[in-house]
Amino acid sequence: MGKLADRVVLITGAARGQGEQEARLFVAEGARVILGDVLDGPGEALAKELGEDRARYVHLDVSQEADWTAAVAAAKAAYGRIDGLVNNAGILRFNELVGTPLAEFQQVVQVNQVGAFLGMRAVTPELVAAGGGTIVNTASYTALTGMAFLTSYAATKAAIVGMTRVAAMELAGKGIRVNAMCPGAIDTPMTNPDRVAADGGPKAADETGSAALDEFYGKVVPMGRIGRPEEVARLALFLSCEDSSYITGQPFVIDGGWMAGVSVF
Ligand code: NAD
Repeated sequence: MGKLADRVVLITGAARGQGEQEARLFVAEGARVILGDVLDGPGEALAKELGEDRARYVHLDVSQEADWTAAVAAAKAAYGRIDGLVNNAGILRFNELVGTPLAEFQQVVQVNQVGAFLGMRAVTPELVAAGGGTIVNTASYTALTGMAFLTSYAATKAAIVGMTRVAAMELAGKGIRVNAMCPGAIDTPMTNPDRVAADGGPKAADETGSAALDEFYGKVVPMGRIGRPEEVARLALFLSCEDSSYITGQPFVIDGGWMAGVSVF
């Protein structure tokens, strides 16, 4: 029996990166997963690899309300109910504040912030119907501390922590726990272009090296390396299973000690 035996969890942005690792770990722990993404080829391939009885892929642009309605319906049609949501999908745009076009700012808000809102709003009634459940939102360390050139991204991640706290308060009485993860630097296609395959999906880990990133982050991260998406997946698992049964409304930093203080040596 796994930690998520018989639970049905919808994971967004599941075609690659952290979402992919969350899907793999959740299935290994007994869950059935609905994988949502806009990268249909890699998403379909992952669902096929995991097996139809364990995973289904659905095209889900998290910024589109109608896509959420369809994804929830697909999850229920496939597995009968939904017990958990991992709002993982996100995009990153680097720009200095005064150089950020309004359209770019609004695009990041639409995917990261509105997407997480639409997801919680669409899935919560299903969690209530299932008798309770969990929501794990993916924020970032930039929700809690500053980083230059990330105005739009940091704004959305702070908003996600805010929504997480409010949702936790509103939903605790319904048996639904809501928490947020705040990763530091994690070695995924978002941060490492070498990990992006031609179709936008993930490149197998053994085809790429993390040495250069480890060297770079080793200078600022006390643990001396960039994080691995599998490590974030384990935090998502903890927050989605009974091991965290008395925890709700909190942001969890996972960053190898980056935010612990200022490195001068
Ligand atoms: P990634 O780019 O590898 O994966 C993100 C996934 O989201 C992709 O599969 C992408 O296709 C999908 N996606 C993008 N827009 C979407 C949309 N509109 N609808 C549905 N899916 C969409 O990045 P990752 O590093 O795995 O990021 C996962 C989450 O973790 C993101 O929310 C990101 O902001 C957050 N995060 C990442 C890091 C990091 O260093 N990698 C650090 C902190 C937070």
